[in-house]
Amino acid sequence: MQKYRGSCHCGSIAYDFTAPEIDKGLRCNCSICVRKGAIMTAFTVAPEDINIQASGDSLSTYQFGLKTAKHHFCNKCGIYTFHETMRKPGHYRLNIGCIEGIKSLELPVEIFDGASI
Ligand SMILES: [Zn+2]
Repeated sequence: MQKYRGSCHCGSIAYDFTAPEIDKGLRCNCSICVRKGAIMTAFTVAPEDINIQASGDSLSTYQFGLKTAKHHFCNKCGIYTFHETMRKPGHYRLNIGCIEGIKSLELPVEIFDGASI
């Protein structure tokens, strides 16, 4: 397990978490992921393994459909930082582009067929 740190673009939302090594990414073709276009962690992080600091009311949440998943973003800079997944409610999948020291565009990427669920 490794320690990682990440933040949105303006720094209003910062977080650290413990996870396996990030050696690949995940993209998804569902209606929201295909619009965000982010490369996400292939694993999910349990709530006890992530520590989130958000200044003021910067952390906003978007929900749609069944409203199981929580899509979090910074309402100052607009960046999607992480979401709580539909398949594992309360567990986080993170935007790798926000994580320090990881070159998200250089990782092998898996495509998840979320559109067919
Ligand atoms: Zn921000």
